[in-house]
Amino acid sequence: MPSLNTLLLVVQAATSPAQSPQLAAFKQEAVRDVASRAQFTQQMVDQIFSYAELGFQETETSRYLVDLLRKNGFTVREGIAGIPTAWVATWGSGKPVISLGSDIDDIPQASQKPGVACHAPLIEGAPGHGEGHNSGQAVNITAALAVKKIMEREHLPGTLQIWPGVAEELVGTKAYFVREGVFKDVDIVIFSHVDDNLATSWGDVAGNGLVSVLFSFQGRSAHAAGAPWRGRSALDAVELMDIGWNFRREHLRLQQRSHYVIPDGGDQPNVVPPTASVWYYLRELDYQHIQEMFALADTIAHAAAMMTSTTLLPPRILGSAWPGHFNRVVAEAMYQNIKQVGLPEWSEADQRLAKALQRDLGVPDSGLAIKLDTLRPALKPNERTGGGSDDIGDVSWNVPTVTLRFPSNIPGLPGHNWANAISMATPIAHKGATAGAKVMAMTVLDLLMRPELVTQAWDYFRNVQTKDIKYQALIRPQDRPAIELNRDVMARYRPAMRALYYNPAKYRTYLEQLGITYPTERAADGSCAAAATP
Ligand SMILES: [Zn+2]
Repeated sequence: MPSLNTLLLVVQAATSPAQSPQLAAFKQEAVRDVASRAQFTQQMVDQIFSYAELGFQETETSRYLVDLLRKNGFTVREGIAGIPTAWVATWGSGKPVISLGSDIDDIPQASQKPGVACHAPLIEGAPGHGEGHNSGQAVNITAALAVKKIMEREHLPGTLQIWPGVAEELVGTKAYFVREGVFKDVDIVIFSHVDDNLATSWGDVAGNGLVSVLFSFQGRSAHAAGAPWRGRSALDAVELMDIGWNFRREHLRLQQRSHYVIPDGGDQPNVVPPTASVWYYLRELDYQHIQEMFALADTIAHAAAMMTSTTLLPPRILGSAWPGHFNRVVAEAMYQNIKQVGLPEWSEADQRLAKALQRDLGVPDSGLAIKLDTLRPALKPNERTGGGSDDIGDVSWNVPTVTLRFPSNIPGLPGHNWANAISMATPIAHKGATAGAKVMAMTVLDLLMRPELVTQAWDYFRNVQTKDIKYQALIRPQDRPAIELNRDVMARYRPAMRALYYNPAKYRTYLEQLGITYPTERAADGSCAAAATP
């Protein structure tokens, strides 16, 4: 009975030794230390913002972070799970092993000047941090260095592990990290992710898990006008598959989300397309429903191939994610620290940028968050209505995990969009990341100095979370990370982007380097005056 176990855990948490004066003093010290590293944090946030790399192509970002971690005494293993931009950094020795992760990739066509409250790309069509993944490593690394300093001086046992969420927007790597054994000896994972508040939660997440699948068809080319009867169009198969899916989706559960793009729709109209492919994200609430969707999509793909006399190639899994489930014990400990740190003090300029952007997007101009979120309790099954995915879900079913959400973004934005990049190299992101790093450092200290928390976290993991649900990877043994994705797009834009990389030796902030007045609002005549490239 989960309810009984949950009750037991509450009792344990209530009776566990209170925070010692020593732990309280270390936490205060770490908070001061993180505050004193504000410029270091800002530089990381701005540097990664300027690299703005798509999933699997985060070469500059990873090189920068690996160098920085090595300079700070971490041992770094690169090329994890055959992924060139994946790495794992460790420092310290012995138990507990506390693992800190955060994503590093960005969004296609989301290039945007920071601090400008209307659509003003830095480079037209280029990728940009329209999800805010440029900020999480700064949170983790700043916190780790503050904790490391105390551990060294006090000879505290324990190991800190730091890793990047490579290609999270493609849910492309964390299942492979799990398969590779990255979390084999890890006691607790703390993941950090940008948000518009300082928050955490436990239990099932609101969103879905998913499988990302490429369906490719093989036809036969012919002159599209001279001898069309000799051709067999692979594009016809793609279109018929999509039509089939779009009819069938009316009769799927309301919790599902599914969407597709056509990465290969043929070459030119006068050649019957001999190859074509369609890429689906198939999202549902749990492993079984995701697999059922995959099987249904596979059936429809086979039917489309039959209708067109083309061949369906073996479907390729490009990514996957379990729906997340976060640990109650760690989330509750973290929330105590969140309450102590509180939200950053926003300046009048920060609020002006936020409100101007909100008005520009036609959403309520509530400005930046000034009230902390509550600790959201576990969702009830009927409250799970589906939504986005994050492959931290796979990690969360293998090790007790929580996500720390920190306030570096503006409420009311569409997500995966240029608007979500606007705050991400401004004082809003910098202060939000510092607040996040304080909570992160305090929570790591809790886990290092209160071993009962780790024990209770595993008790919840074993006896509540995974009592009836066992992890099975959605990736199959033959699947490999799709490391070639985004290579062409990144190669096209990188030369122009390189000219805009942040140079912290010369400029205090990236805003300063770009010569942007903070904040910049839409001009009185309605134009987004800042739209000209610097
Ligand atoms: Zn994300």
